Amino acid sequence: MALVTGANRGIGLEIARQLLQHGLRVVVGSRDAQGGEEAAAALAGEGDVAAQTLDVTDRASVERAIAAIETRFGRVDVLVNNAGVLIDENRRAATIPLEDVQRTLGANLLGAWRMSQAVIPSMRKQRYGRIVNVSSAMGTLAGLAASAGGWPAYRLSKTALNALTMLLASELQADNVLVNAACPGWVRTRMGGAGAHRTVEQGADTPVWLATLPDGSPTGRLFEDRGLIDW
Ligand code: NAP
Repeated sequence: MALVTGANRGIGLEIARQLLQHGLRVVVGSRDAQGGEEAAAALAGEGDVAAQTLDVTDRASVERAIAAIETRFGRVDVLVNNAGVLIDENRRAATIPLEDVQRTLGANLLGAWRMSQAVIPSMRKQRYGRIVNVSSAMGTLAGLAASAGGWPAYRLSKTALNALTMLLASELQADNVLVNAACPGWVRTRMGGAGAHRTVEQGADTPVWLATLPDGSPTGRLFEDRGLIDW
């Protein structure tokens, strides 16, 4: 089964939909219980879907969620770390309140790390797993170098998420657990805004492709539009 965090709306909801279309059982993670139930109800016609309350910044919430999922489904084959926040559009690294940095890293980096640690033991045991970190080209080193300011904490959270992708990938390769990162492009969601040029269908495509890679596929890489891009 596949677990998608932050799947009550936006790209995460569409990733859940496309994973169902691949025939996977999907758990929609949502920090708001009602939002998760509504999303699961909206996807019910597409396959075997359930909702799970899950706040990736809350250790107890993650432990409860993984225990409930493992009891119900016996295993987690796919984890998509999609949940994320962007709260620093007009900030500059020189002046941003560090509380904003902490909040951003708490969700975008530590949330994904916590979720990965929670599912790795069962993935290792079953010698199968796919972890996909939904990242952003805004966090690539070229993206940082070209930045004229704006989103400093968000950018850094994705740079760090990319680094985490590499670290986990090299630790888990021998266990047939592939860990990759994906940039969805600029997508029309609450985060991306109405001016973004991509649909959620386009944004979800590469994360779903990475979530369903066959054994022996690349690991520890960053992809956009199913192609490798530089860190
Ligand atoms: P979105 O519409 O703002 O959705 C974000 C999702 O993350 C929501 O479901 C939100 O839940 C959830 N979330 C936030 N904090 C959470 C937490 N602590 N625990 C659990 N869920 C949490 O954003 P999106 O555009 O779909 O973005 C999804 C991912 O793609 C993010 O990682 C983002 O950085 C990445 N991305 C997006 C774009 C873009 O252009 N949209 C570009 C590059 C990368 P609530 O509904 O409860 O707030």
